[in-house]
Amino acid sequence: MAGDRTVSAQFVMVALDVPLNRLFGYQVGEFDPQVGQRVIVPFGPRQLSSIVIERRNDAGDFSGKTRAILAVRDDLPALSASTIALCQFVADYYHHPLGAVLSTALPTVFRNVPAFKAPAPACVYYAADIEKLLAHISKRAHAQQRVAQQLATPHTPAALRRIHDSGLKWAKAWAEQGLVQTAAETSVVSPASPILPLNAEQAYAVEQLSSARSFLPFLLYGITGSGKTEVYLQTIAAVLARGEQVLILIPEINLTPQLEGRFRARFPGVAMACLHSGLNDTERAVNWLAAMSGEARIVLGTRLAVFTPLPQLGMIVVDEEHDPSFKQQEGLRYSARDVAVYRARTAQVPIILGSATPSIETWANAKAKRYQIITLAERAVPGATLPKITLLPVKKAGLIDGFNRMALAAMHAALERGEQVLVFINRRGYSPVLQCGECGWMASCKHCSARLVLHLRDRRLRCHHCGFEEPITHACPDCGNQDLKPVGQGTQRLEEALATHFPNRKILRIDRDSTRRKGEMDAALAQVHSGEADILIGTQMLAKGHDFDRLNLVIALNADTGLFSVDFRAEERLFALLMQVAGRAGRRETPGEVMIQTAFADHPFYHQLLGRDYAPFADRTLSERQDMLLPPAMAWALFRAEAPDIEHAIGILNIIRACFEQLDATLRKDLTLNQPVAATMVKKAGVERAQLLIAARHKAQLQRALHQAMPHIEVIKTGKGRWSLDVDPIEV
Ligand code: ADP
Ligand code: ZN
Ligand code: ZN
Repeated sequence: MAGDRTVSAQFVMVALDVPLNRLFGYQVGEFDPQVGQRVIVPFGPRQLSSIVIERRNDAGDFSGKTRAILAVRDDLPALSASTIALCQFVADYYHHPLGAVLSTALPTVFRNVPAFKAPAPACVYYAADIEKLLAHISKRAHAQQRVAQQLATPHTPAALRRIHDSGLKWAKAWAEQGLVQTAAETSVVSPASPILPLNAEQAYAVEQLSSARSFLPFLLYGITGSGKTEVYLQTIAAVLARGEQVLILIPEINLTPQLEGRFRARFPGVAMACLHSGLNDTERAVNWLAAMSGEARIVLGTRLAVFTPLPQLGMIVVDEEHDPSFKQQEGLRYSARDVAVYRARTAQVPIILGSATPSIETWANAKAKRYQIITLAERAVPGATLPKITLLPVKKAGLIDGFNRMALAAMHAALERGEQVLVFINRRGYSPVLQCGECGWMASCKHCSARLVLHLRDRRLRCHHCGFEEPITHACPDCGNQDLKPVGQGTQRLEEALATHFPNRKILRIDRDSTRRKGEMDAALAQVHSGEADILIGTQMLAKGHDFDRLNLVIALNADTGLFSVDFRAEERLFALLMQVAGRAGRRETPGEVMIQTAFADHPFYHQLLGRDYAPFADRTLSERQDMLLPPAMAWALFRAEAPDIEHAIGILNIIRACFEQLDATLRKDLTLNQPVAATMVKKAGVERAQLLIAARHKAQLQRALHQAMPHIEVIKTGKGRWSLDVDPIEV
């Protein structure tokens, strides 16, 4: 009986964000804290925020010297059993302390000791008469014009600040002049975006997706431009109509204010909460609470949004499910996609994984009929055609500053027609590999189907899977050529070369370096849209989610690095990137053209790319993975260690390895224990790094072994070194 003194607990077990993988016991003192509640506790000389996981009447196995909790915070309603269970699953699967998982899951303000005070509710800004607003602003005030254009759809203060630092300030000023309207987030009735009449494929997809009512994972496999977003929108409409909440996860780079605006405009009057790293702590907390209370019906966010409590969750959508940004690469190394699938299963709701180029993991699940495939094979815009893809040979003699003659000619012609050109450079999956420029031979491992990584510092070639190594070869074993080179090409040189070939054209480089600061990306995109920029040099950042009207020609350089990378996923990522890049060209009536410079035109990869059909590529890749015993045919856990010197790092990994050696024979027999090896980039930020790969045929076998071994591993004395564990690593 609640409130009955005889059953009220004497003790609570709480989860703390400290590097110890256990719960901590406290006396309740004068309080009556419930499971899921936030409480403040003393920890050594400090005070820490924590979450109550369990109530107890006896001290049990923790010592009698327990201290009492200091306060109960009601700024955060008690977490539900399902939210705690989700975090517990993540803690168990990724072998991370529950307190640390909760820290990742909860907004920062709920990790602080002071109580959070919610500010007044935010409103959205929009221009009911967009022409009038635009006419009011000087044509030369480019930044203001850009912000104003966005106000055709409702934008939150956070979204406006992401467009421009002064975006919110200007919107407020225009609101005072009556040019811009404000409304509470929940009550926007206008403007709304039109509901598009679906084509047959889309209609079938919406029908299938919206009629699913329990746990059913779908792979929505639709080519770029096939109208997946419209399918999500109409499916979501059906789920909202049932009175349920929807969680939509998208890659960080895709969460543009434009996309947010598109969702808001489609569902006027429906409260939506966005959750991503661009929000400040207060905004994130407010949105999170709105989702938790059930007030927000749609939650749109990046990977961290997967933990958002949703009392009436009815469906999860993971757009671009193959995107590597769904995997966190530090701290709690979770895959938001995988956690989302687990969550959908426990919540018994359908989940849609959408992609034009699904991850091989998801493809394997679809092939095994664990996921249901729905295909969209046509472009949605009537009349829009697929871009033409051409392969251009790169022979050393034939290249002019790294460009094939035909690529330069095509660029000239496109620029003459007043179009823009994108020169795309592949940077992902690049590790130095030794190649013979004459016959194409590449140094590979004797024991694995993997390329050896070139370690220039100590002049050795190493296999990053098994640890095999040998000195750098000086002559090609196949043709005797003595001029062996690392594969790769500098972007700096490229920019200079383009400047000499196209002296009167404005060249714009868009990559991580040029867009590091806030607003730089949007400013660069504005230059593209306004037509100021003629030639764009871009990396994967530019491949996604942007629609450029005058871009019809894409030249892809050094795509080959993705074919011979030590990262076995590089090929799959390259396919995804090139398809996305191709999708950038010719989104309107003019068909686009993609020219790919390659030395390996006969590689099956390019045959499949030319066919514009991901399915045969994915089938081949999956069967290769099965033959070579690579994920998803195997489950992997990667231990990484870093220390002042590499010997120390390897030493830690050897002790970890020994913990697995000593497991019960029944567990040990399922494991492949590799040797620790130096990381590709051995030295980083002053420390030296190594890694140890442990593999098993099935995830369950790997998990059983990890559960047995981790208590021994967690107590290893590491001196000046540290280790971390990455379950299902996507970068090795
Ligand atoms: P995807 O996400 O699959 O790459 P989008 O959802 O971005 O594709 O759609 C591509 C384009 O097609 C968009 O401009 C969208 O407005 C348009 N579109 C989508 N569905 C339809 C439809 N049924 N009729 C006409 N245009 C459509
Ligand atoms: Zn050779
Ligand atoms: Zn090897």
